[in-house]
Amino acid sequence: MVYLDYSATSPLLPEVKTAMLSAMEMTGNASSLHTPGHLTMNIIEDAREEIAKLIGAKPEEILFTSGGTESNNTVTNIFAGKNVAVSAIEHPSLLESAKLRCNTTIIPVDKDGRVSGRAFPAYDVPDFDGETKKDINKAHLSLVSVMLANNEIGTINDIKALAKEAHAHGALFHTDATQALGKIKINVKDLDVDYMTISSHKIGGPIGIGALYIKKGSPFTPLIIGGHQEHGRRAGTYQTVNIAGFGAAAKYANNHQTWEIYNDKIKPLRDELRKRILAEIPYSSSNTPKNHSLPHLLNCSFEAAEGESIQLYLDAEGDIIVSTGSACASGDGKPSHVIMATKNDAEIAHSSVRFSLGLDTTENDINHVMKYLPGIVKRLQGISTLTAGKIKKEDSYYA
Ligand code: PMP
Repeated sequence: MVYLDYSATSPLLPEVKTAMLSAMEMTGNASSLHTPGHLTMNIIEDAREEIAKLIGAKPEEILFTSGGTESNNTVTNIFAGKNVAVSAIEHPSLLESAKLRCNTTIIPVDKDGRVSGRAFPAYDVPDFDGETKKDINKAHLSLVSVMLANNEIGTINDIKALAKEAHAHGALFHTDATQALGKIKINVKDLDVDYMTISSHKIGGPIGIGALYIKKGSPFTPLIIGGHQEHGRRAGTYQTVNIAGFGAAAKYANNHQTWEIYNDKIKPLRDELRKRILAEIPYSSSNTPKNHSLPHLLNCSFEAAEGESIQLYLDAEGDIIVSTGSACASGDGKPSHVIMATKNDAEIAHSSVRFSLGLDTTENDINHVMKYLPGIVKRLQGISTLTAGKIKKEDSYYA
């Protein structure tokens, strides 16, 4: 099998399995005062340290959650009823929960998925000083949320500049770094963000565990209440086994500096795949910007061929695993909100396929894809009622 769906989820690293199995041997509840309780808490605090190190945070700024979805929901819950601005291409766990809970303005993106601080909504900038800047109960823009890297097309936004702009508007700043974690170097202090969402299963850790970085002193309201865990910030008995797995995945990334491997080894493979698709497949185009994109992700559209059909044929005929849009959105039949926000074209959206490479991806895998993909696309275009060649775009192949 050629697995090119690492952005949906990545296989458990062997080191992660070992750490999880060892944590399974523990019987203590981490909150208990007895010895097994302490030993279990040690596992959790070791993991917290590795995760903090991976993003340049202090351990006490890391809050464990059940994943990226909960971290994003936790943030929108803090700002419930407040004025917030979020980019049009956020993950649904941010976009939908912000729309439900907050007075939300959608920040438009350009054709590559980039956000400009000039597009932030106009509110009076309050005359804040020092700590009072963190008073979110004033009727101004309270929060801006823009993802560090997009999960469908891989666009990386200039978070440092956007956070600076948000702060100048008197707003706090959150970024969803779920897809960027381990793929590019991240430092929360350098980016100067107030909150950051991360998740374990995109970096070889288990599903069902994630974290929210909360800069010391930032406003906080728990989403899940009814327990003293995480200093009252998130109730529920600690998921020691998952936390140990997340910690081991973070340790792997820290020890191997995985962002360097992605840049040196995986990005050239991604670029090769892109080059070959655009050169060999008629009516193909890339939705992933050449610059400012994650090193392992490529989203392409194949006019007059349906993305889901391409996905199914690649699986059935070539044992090649890819996805359309994001795994979370697949199957609902709606065009991707990300491609609609960037390209505003339902045909381009419906014909898009996401290839996401992992640390194990090889040149042979790329060759294997290119053995099957052109024929599958040609066959689908041949039976389509749509006419390919309607849409002319730069950076595309036209027959
Ligand atoms: N944000 C982004 C950008 C994601 O890609 C995902 C996972 N698809 C999530 C949040 C949700 O993370 P989790 O699966 O850990 O809930």
